[in-house]
Amino acid sequence: MEVLPSEKVKIPIQFLKGVGPKRAKALELLNIQTVEDLLYYFPRRHVDRTITHTIDSLTLDHEVNVIGRIKSIRYVKRFKKSYVIANFADHTGSMTLMWFNAAEYIGQSLKENDLLAIHGKVTSYQNKFQIVHPEYDKLNANEITVNTGLIIPIYPLTEDLKKVGLDSRNLRKIIANCIKDVEQIDDFLTQEYRDSLGLCSLDFALRNIHFTKNLDHLNSAITRLKFDEHFFIQLLFATRKKQIQNSTCLPLEKKLTILNKITNSLTFELTSAQRNSINEIIEDLCTSHPMNRMIQGDVGSGKTIVACLISALVVENDYQVAIMAPTDLLANQIFRNFEKYFSSLKINCSIILGSQKGQTKKEILKKIASGESSIIVGTHALFQKNVTFKNLGLTIIDEQHRFGVNQREKLIKKSKIPNLLSMTATPIPRTLAITYNGDMDISLIDELPKNRPDIFTTKIQTTDLPVTYDFIKGKIKKGEQAIIVYPLIEETEKSDLKAATESYEKLKKQFFSNYNVGLLHGKINNEDKNQTMLDFLDGKIDILVSTTVVEVGIDNPNATIMLINNAERFGLSQLHQLRGRVGRGKKESHCILCSDSFSDKSNNRLDILTKTRNGFLIADEDLKIRGPGEFFGEKQSGFIKYRIADLVTDGPIIREARKFAFQIIDNDSKLLSPDNNLIKKKFEKDYLNLFLKITVN
Ligand code: ADP
Ligand code: MG
Repeated sequence: MEVLPSEKVKIPIQFLKGVGPKRAKALELLNIQTVEDLLYYFPRRHVDRTITHTIDSLTLDHEVNVIGRIKSIRYVKRFKKSYVIANFADHTGSMTLMWFNAAEYIGQSLKENDLLAIHGKVTSYQNKFQIVHPEYDKLNANEITVNTGLIIPIYPLTEDLKKVGLDSRNLRKIIANCIKDVEQIDDFLTQEYRDSLGLCSLDFALRNIHFTKNLDHLNSAITRLKFDEHFFIQLLFATRKKQIQNSTCLPLEKKLTILNKITNSLTFELTSAQRNSINEIIEDLCTSHPMNRMIQGDVGSGKTIVACLISALVVENDYQVAIMAPTDLLANQIFRNFEKYFSSLKINCSIILGSQKGQTKKEILKKIASGESSIIVGTHALFQKNVTFKNLGLTIIDEQHRFGVNQREKLIKKSKIPNLLSMTATPIPRTLAITYNGDMDISLIDELPKNRPDIFTTKIQTTDLPVTYDFIKGKIKKGEQAIIVYPLIEETEKSDLKAATESYEKLKKQFFSNYNVGLLHGKINNEDKNQTMLDFLDGKIDILVSTTVVEVGIDNPNATIMLINNAERFGLSQLHQLRGRVGRGKKESHCILCSDSFSDKSNNRLDILTKTRNGFLIADEDLKIRGPGEFFGEKQSGFIKYRIADLVTDGPIIREARKFAFQIIDNDSKLLSPDNNLIKKKFEKDYLNLFLKITVN
């Protein structure tokens, strides 16, 4: 193989030394087709083999590297279980190696007298040192440099690939050759940019991420490559934000008569966080650029009334407002709230749901089209084709994480003025907010209304339930209400549904025969669901047994007890959201977490909830424990595939990347400067279509 000029990183992989058509095919299974793909196939981790140990110097529980030979090896198969056991020795002594996974493959590929470099944690077995599942590399005496005496990359390889003859050792050799052959790799960040950011060059990073002489170099490489991934995502947001700033629309006038009327009719004072948010939103609406803002607020911080007051301003400007909620239940609740405030002012509100049919639906659609309805609340039904607005001026999306970006866009397209206001259910960690909604402005409602009662949060076990039921009875006798939640991972999981239904029957017969118990789950039809909700709000139901359909939004100030079964099955943010269903009125409330799981991990996790009610803190913990998937649906969280970035730990890098991306777009929005030439190229090739992918359905 000749030396590769860097523009030839696109050449097919099979022309590399040591590859050939057969291996090229195997590599294709890893999506590696070109030299560039290969360089971007990053190791899963590294093993520091700069130090090797002799067997006589091993100590228990330490991670070690040993070079030695297999003295004997046996593949053992008993019933369905199989394993490989080997006696392994260097010039100072011998030890045992064991493999339980992929035993057959390992049994075939390792032979007596093979020279191996192994890595793993030392345990003992029958008074002898042992390593179970060591990482290993077969060595030839003359190729020790690629595989030992260095910081060794460990690549993510599946068993299937091992079968077609690719193991970590082969791949390492292929990549080592490739790195040797490839010329200086072009960097899309100029030296000046890199210096200002304290980053190493792309060339250095792509070489050192694979083979490096010291851990500092490796860390610089990792930081640079993580930065790149975040940078282009942020560039996407910076570009979008710029587009919005550059597009103009009719500004609303600051007409505040209706808004003030509603404010004066409230039985409470707005918090200063609520007032700030309202002011920020009014500013947005009254400029000549579309609004793209998100309200991030804790559970019970009062986001709905903010939406309501803002709607008043839009309606007074003679525009319509659409409010979209993820479920019929929530849409109904918002509708009732808005109707309460607006009907008395002779402003027409409508609700549109997927379940509506025939004449009812026709009439609603007519009212929306003619402009007779000023405020339209609804579910997904809102953005269907047959819905046309007369002059939609603001779209509000409640619990926005439940909707895909494309659904939001569809609704926006129906607008005269594309103003968008999103509201979150629970706080989202900041790193996630700027990674998934990085083009939005954020209004924080980080303050609960004054005089909110305490919510005492406790942990119990199933055996404590009878006592808890008595406690609930006592509260009901005082006129309060309770919610009992059973987990339902997916609405299609019959067994969970059965659990809720059976528990409901049992509770009704055994413990609460003299009380009114209601049942809510995903399979109940909308009409009945709605009726149950109304009965609960009216106090006709004492205890609401439910799956997680109550998770979002239900607002009953008289509910004071939330009992959650199998609490260990929920994410912290979800539990926090559930807890937020109580403590909404004046009365002291209780959140009882029932779990029979005694593992330290789940106990520590639940302890966090008993200690704090700050949703922002809880969200950060949840991110650390359960990862980003907890906060967004698959639809949203799946759209960025990272090779090396990690949203849990990259906070500082993400913020740097964001700052830099916005700076660049601020100075050169079309990326026309020569300094930004290569950035533009890579951005257009690899990233621009990401948004197309998620906005075009
Ligand atoms: P969330 O932010 O969780 O959506 P809601 O908008 O449902 O919260 O508000 C929760 C409850 O708090 C509602 O009953 C609402 O009327 C009430 N509320 C809102 N703002 C205030 C306030 N400033 N003071 C007292 N109660 C308020
Ligand atoms: Mg809400």
